[in-house]
Amino acid sequence: MNVADSELIAGILQKEGYKQTPNIDEATAIFINTCAVRDHAEAKVHSRLGNFNRIKKSHPDVIIGMLGCMAQNLKDEILENKPYIDIVLGPDSYRKLPVILNNRLKEQKHIVDTQLSRFEVYDGLFPSRKEGINAWVSIMRGCDKFCTFCIVPFTRGRERSRNPKRIIQEIERAIKNGFVGVTLLGQNVNSYKYDNIAFTDLLKQVSAIPGLLRLRYTSPHPSDVNEKLLEVMAESKNICNSIHFPLQAGSDRILKRMNRTYTKNHFLKYAKKIRAIIPGVGISTDIIVGFPGETEEDFQETLEVMDIIKFDSAYTFKYSSRPYTKAIEYDEHIAEAVKKDRLDRLIKLQRQHTLFRNLELVDQVVDVMVEKESKKSSEYWSGRTDSNKWVIFKKDTGNIKDIIPVRITAAHGVTLKGKIEGK
Ligand code: SAH
Ligand code: SF4
Repeated sequence: MNVADSELIAGILQKEGYKQTPNIDEATAIFINTCAVRDHAEAKVHSRLGNFNRIKKSHPDVIIGMLGCMAQNLKDEILENKPYIDIVLGPDSYRKLPVILNNRLKEQKHIVDTQLSRFEVYDGLFPSRKEGINAWVSIMRGCDKFCTFCIVPFTRGRERSRNPKRIIQEIERAIKNGFVGVTLLGQNVNSYKYDNIAFTDLLKQVSAIPGLLRLRYTSPHPSDVNEKLLEVMAESKNICNSIHFPLQAGSDRILKRMNRTYTKNHFLKYAKKIRAIIPGVGISTDIIVGFPGETEEDFQETLEVMDIIKFDSAYTFKYSSRPYTKAIEYDEHIAEAVKKDRLDRLIKLQRQHTLFRNLELVDQVVDVMVEKESKKSSEYWSGRTDSNKWVIFKKDTGNIKDIIPVRITAAHGVTLKGKIEGK
């Protein structure tokens, strides 16, 4: 989401004649687009800001801007403690950036704009995209779900969806510019609703766009995944057979405390449906350990659900207390050492499951899109399967953006090795 927002911001500035520079010492303005979802993400930004402060000391005219969710969350603290930051803009204020930048160039005053909007979806602006394979396309912004651990509803504001016509125009333009894949984005992508167009309708419309070879979306909420969506995914050749299905926790008691709105049984039932309806599907997930009140028994239930589903991959996190959220007020916060121990055990189990899923592919022929040269050797391609797994294979034929049949020959942990079929 932040990559997409940064491309949008770059597009806004380029329209005004600003140019990007790869050399930070040459820049007249430096912006950092920030994430507030976990403490760790914020810590990384603070450390980067330390570097910018040093640059500012040697180039006092350089303008430093902090954009995005941390700006929204920490505006007062930044103004007080980091006076070298000139501009603080929340996620709904990027459109004003050129005007703000001009004002800042004219007078030496700090500028803060963190007004959230019920309407801003950045229609009519075109992001300046960097790589040429997958275009990130934001289709909705904000979140109304209010999971009790999550800061997103507070930093990104209320849910709002973009006009499908504008979305399709943007994708057609990306394809004209050489992109072959699209990932539709939203904090709650499948809550998309514009007049009577629901997410599944939009997905169908987008998949019919000529020249679009691969269509993905993220991040869906399990409560809004239904059979119709899975059937549309199974029927459409260019909608990838991969789905992000974020579990968060396996015990009903914790899911309830998290306000996740589904139960363990509902989640298990749908995971089964996903594998039954979409053959060869890859399922990824998000899991939090150490949510306030999580007992060893609750944690065991998370491991049990993982054992049943055997996710293809998982993003795993230690619970991090976030301001404004309900969970911060809960008692029974879990000790750091316990969180760490649970995370280690969870990661170990997930490694086994990833290997299990990858081994299932050995000896099978799968369609792989060539995305880049392998980092390890210029004689190898690195490409992705429909189910979102990376495969390394000898460059016997093919070019970047080609989809070619590859026979999987080996699975080592997360990496698959293969050989172009017929070569
Ligand atoms: N809208 C998406 C998630 C967006 S945030 C969804 O509902 O699935 C991405 C992930 O960060 C979440 O799925 C969750 O696993 C993790 N996360 C969010 N807040 C967190 C917190 N306070 N501590 C730890 N992990 C968190
Ligand atoms: Fe956060 Fe929950 Fe909204 Fe996802 S659905 S962004 S986890 S509040």
